[in-house]
Amino acid sequence: MSVLEIRDLHVTVETDAGETPILNGVTLTVRTGETHAIMGPNGSGKSTLAYTIAGHPKYTVTSGTITLDGEDVLAMTVDERARAGLFLAMQYPVEIPGVTVTNFLRTAKTAIDGEAPAIRTWTKDVKGAMKNLRMDPKFAQRNVNEGFSGGEKKRHEILQLELLKPALAILDETDSGLDVDALKIVSEGVNRAKESTDLGVLLITHYTRILRYITPDYVHVMVNGRIAEEGGPELADRLEDEGYDRYLPVAEPAV
Ligand code: ADP
Ligand code: MG
Ligand code: MG
Repeated sequence: MSVLEIRDLHVTVETDAGETPILNGVTLTVRTGETHAIMGPNGSGKSTLAYTIAGHPKYTVTSGTITLDGEDVLAMTVDERARAGLFLAMQYPVEIPGVTVTNFLRTAKTAIDGEAPAIRTWTKDVKGAMKNLRMDPKFAQRNVNEGFSGGEKKRHEILQLELLKPALAILDETDSGLDVDALKIVSEGVNRAKESTDLGVLLITHYTRILRYITPDYVHVMVNGRIAEEGGPELADRLEDEGYDRYLPVAEPAV
């Protein structure tokens, strides 16, 4: 059982205009076995939250805390965060020349577990996970992210999720750019991880579509860098019908 606690988090980002505040006091608790959806209009700070948890250097925490089982996540390196059980898909967004998917996954697994997985079971696990995600076995020999389509990147994320078996996963816009078939396959992967390892999920999404396949226990609406409303799955249904208009400022009438 793991618990990620975010308390009154304030974050700025470095822009040409200087340090700009983006998160203005976010408080959120995610436990293993729970699925939390963070929804909200574009530009509300959802990805900033994900990048901050991931330790992206561009984002500065000016106050507040993030802890995992009481340990200070903000004091950890990116690798330490992964070893502690956090899965941050955006941790490896770049092409890694000359590193194949299979070697990348084995290196990541070794780093997280502190020992290399036995070759025979590992190969079997990778094959099985790829089959689950309906991935072409040739994919394992491709270089990481080199020429990956949007759908391949997402499947590669979920492949990592299945193999690395983290306690808590932060998935940012995993649904973007996926057609319905790919969305179903990716969602099934997340659901398998939820069932087999009691994974906790922080699912960040602008659209309600993925929530038809991955049912959230809690829904949080982020607006202007704050959680504006929280509820259960019914809140996602309401957002699907009504959109985010009710959270946005009403224009002043012209005088
Ligand atoms: P969301 O994911 O909800 O669409 P983001 O967290 O991406 O929102 O962005 C929130 C705000 O912060 C936006 O106004 C965006 O322009 C700004 N922002 C985020 N990251 C950066 C960055 N690296 N550089 C400059 N501005 C940023
Ligand atoms: Mg955005
Ligand atoms: Mg975003």
